[in-house]
Order: sequence, then structure tokens, then C-alpha cells
Amino acid sequence: MPKFPGVINSKLPNTGTTIFTVMSKLAADHDAINLSQGFPDFPCSEELVSLVNKYMQKGFNQYAPMPGIMPLREVLAEKIEDSYSAVYNPETEITITSGGTQAIFTAISAFVKEGDEVIIFEPAYDSYAPAIELAGGRPIFVQLKAPDYHIEWNEVKKMIRQSTRMILINTPHNPASATMSAQDMQQLDKITRNTDIIVLSDEVYEHIIFDGLEHQSVMRFPKLAERSIVIFSFGKTLHVTGWKMGYAVGPENLMKEFRKVHQFNVFSSNHPMQWAITDFLKNKDNYTYLPQFYQAKRDHFISLMKGSKFEPIECKGSYFQLMSYKNISNEKDTDFAIRLTKEFGVASIPVSVFYHKPVDNKILRFCFAKENETLEKAAEKLLMVG
Ligand code: GLN
Repeated sequence: MPKFPGVINSKLPNTGTTIFTVMSKLAADHDAINLSQGFPDFPCSEELVSLVNKYMQKGFNQYAPMPGIMPLREVLAEKIEDSYSAVYNPETEITITSGGTQAIFTAISAFVKEGDEVIIFEPAYDSYAPAIELAGGRPIFVQLKAPDYHIEWNEVKKMIRQSTRMILINTPHNPASATMSAQDMQQLDKITRNTDIIVLSDEVYEHIIFDGLEHQSVMRFPKLAERSIVIFSFGKTLHVTGWKMGYAVGPENLMKEFRKVHQFNVFSSNHPMQWAITDFLKNKDNYTYLPQFYQAKRDHFISLMKGSKFEPIECKGSYFQLMSYKNISNEKDTDFAIRLTKEFGVASIPVSVFYHKPVDNKILRFCFAKENETLEKAAEKLLMVG
């Protein structure tokens, strides 16, 4: 096909292809072990698959209701009350989405207008800034502070202006693997009180948190919850990232605006899967094992890497382990990640890509949501580096 003959005024002139696609392709092209894009390489529950099959056979193959099926929203309302002592009305305050990324995009589209500012924390998940820019907004970047990637609240406070429409937080954090504490939430509450700021809280790794830490959802803080849309992901919790299923939760007046966009963004999400997930989540054992399960993987990976020249950076949550390679090379992290894939056969994600102006601390992100065997094979290769 000849090229489009006109002028394309790109809406995202500085955006390339997402790093997850780039690195996963590079891994495939070079037959490397893929610890880059975050997804499990082990199967999800067979029971869950047969439940989807059952509901497809039963004929649940047409559109689901726009906000999602009520039984699922009811199960989620119970799960939330149980976990965070917060009460949400499933009818008006919970919406099933086609994954966390769609929910984040929808929330930003619903509330951010031309000229609005949205505070995000860097390193930041790569969909945040483009979503804000497409809505006409301006991302305001605040850097998390090394080595533990904490938030300096005085700095955040200074960034708040009349035009601040939203603060986007992420805990447990991807890619930093840090978690926000109750004190962090209290600070966030304090600086947003008596403002019109909406908090968009990306909590897709809510169940992947370690060393006995409790996930501090914004939902645990009643005043914060009033101004928050909270995003969750079935992909992360049920090992089904390819299903692209998630949900958004927030007070009715915010959810009403969210749904105005959602209905024209995707209309509704996968129908048979919603029924399957409803049945599956009724058994709490199907997700309460996750902290232990992933902690064992994290610890296994770290112990396998002990003889290597990589230095682990503390991982409190999420299924990503950051590793410093400062003892190995001075190369740019993007170059090093490519070389590691091509020459050593292990793909990872260079952390500098999560900054608007690359900050290269010589750190790579490795996903440990993998079979032990995969982690062992990868570590064997990584031990040869340097
Ligand atoms: N959330 C996943 C990660 O951080 C990737 C999702 C995607 O590929 N868009 O690796």
C-alpha cells in the first residue's frame, strides 16, 4: 500500500512502540528467556478455564451489560469490604473493564481536560503519560526517591496548583516494586483535602505484596476513598493477563462519569469470562495464597542470582525484581538490555524508559512470575554476565 499522502499531525509525536512489545519481540527473535514483559509462564487454574468453557457452552456469548454482570460486581463488593472495610454499591460504584490499562485510560479520559495537570510518579508505568496527553492534559512528573523509591510529599505539595486535576498513584509499584505505607496515604489525604483533585489509584498488584506487609489501598482511608477511582486487574490476580479483564471502583458521582466514557470506549467486557470469574472468586482460597506464592518466587530468583554480579534492589510487592548492573557495565540500560537478550539469552526491561527524560541508574527489571525452571535457566545465563 502506498503511504498516506497527506500530513499526519501525530497526537503522540514522541511516542514509539511500548517497551513491552519491543522486548518481547526481541526475546522471541533471539530465542531468549523472556523476563521482560510481565506475565506468568505457568497456566491459570484448570477450574477457571472449565468455568469459561461452561459459560460459553451455556450460551453467554453476547454482550454483557455495559457496567458488567451484577453477580460479579456483587462478589467484588464483598471482596473489597472484606479486604479493606470499604462499602461500595455494586450497582453504581463498580464497573468491569477490559483490563487495567483500559480502565486507567477511561478514567483519565473521563476527568482530564485540555490544560489540566496530572501528577504522576517516575519511574511511571508507560501508559500513564500518553493517556494524559491524549486527553489534552499535562503530566507533571515527580520522581520517586532512590534507593527505596519513596514519595517525598513536600515535593508533591509544591506541585499542586489550581490546574491539578488528578494525582495518579500506583501501589505496589510497577516497575519500582515499592509499596505505599499508611503514612503515605495519610499524607496524600492531607494534601488533597478540600481540593477538587481526583486520585486515580492503580492497585493491580494488590495481592502481590511481601514480607507480611498489608496492602494499603486508598479504600482503607475513607476521606481518600471519596475522591478516588481504584483500578484492579483479574489478569494479575488470576494469572490470565491475556484475558484483558479488570475493574474500576469509585464513588457513584465519579463512576457515573467513568461509565459515560466506558460505554463508548469498549461498551462492555468479555461476557462468559465474567461469569467464570464470579464463580471462581467466591472461593477466597483462589487469591489469598498469592503473597506467599510470589514471595517464594522472588526469594528463589534472588537466591539463584547470589553468585552473579547483579545487585538486587528491595522488592516489597509486584512480580518484578529490579537488579543493578553497575558492577558489570557502564552501558546505557537500553543498550545493555538488548545485549543481554542477544548475547546471553535473557530479556529484561531497562528502567530508564519509565522516565520522560531518561534517568539511567543502570537498573533492569526482571519479571519473576515464572516457573521455577524458567527462573533457574535464566539465572544460569545471568551468572555468566560480567
Ligand atoms: N504490565 C505488564 C508489564 O509491566 C505489561 C503490560 C503490557 O504489555 N502492556 O510488564
